[in-house]
Amino acid sequence: MTKKVIALLNDARSRELTAISQYMAQHYELSDQGMAKAASKLKAIAIQEMKHAELLAERILFLNGEPTYKPDAAVKKGEEITVSLQTDIALEASAIKTYNDSAVICEAEKDQISKRLFESLLADEEEHLDYFQKTAQHIEKLGAAYLTTLME
Ligand code: FE
Ligand code: FE
Repeated sequence: MTKKVIALLNDARSRELTAISQYMAQHYELSDQGMAKAASKLKAIAIQEMKHAELLAERILFLNGEPTYKPDAAVKKGEEITVSLQTDIALEASAIKTYNDSAVICEAEKDQISKRLFESLLADEEEHLDYFQKTAQHIEKLGAAYLTTLME
């Protein structure tokens, strides 16, 4: 029972570790391209993902498991912002689906605390997804005019 929950928590931690590096890489690239506003948003989101990875590790340790240090995917570099936003949308959408499923399994495993942890992560991931989707939509509609607003 606990083993199953620890596996879910570690799967989530692997996703968070990927997201942290992915968003940090985008933060540095956007910053280098002069898109300071978008860069600082990516930095803020990366820091939230770091907190997620920490919360997951704390819960895993409490359950006497061993936190993983392995990201579940490689970082994509050098993507145009329209492409990198799709990368981010895919990461968040996949995390949302998985964390919803994981919350339901934790409930079935009678682990309300882990369930609540997944729910709290979900609230953040939904906001991240919303930000990435809205930004992608604005770029699609307004093009270069919108890109300048990401510079500041
Ligand atoms: Fe996260
Ligand atoms: Fe996220």
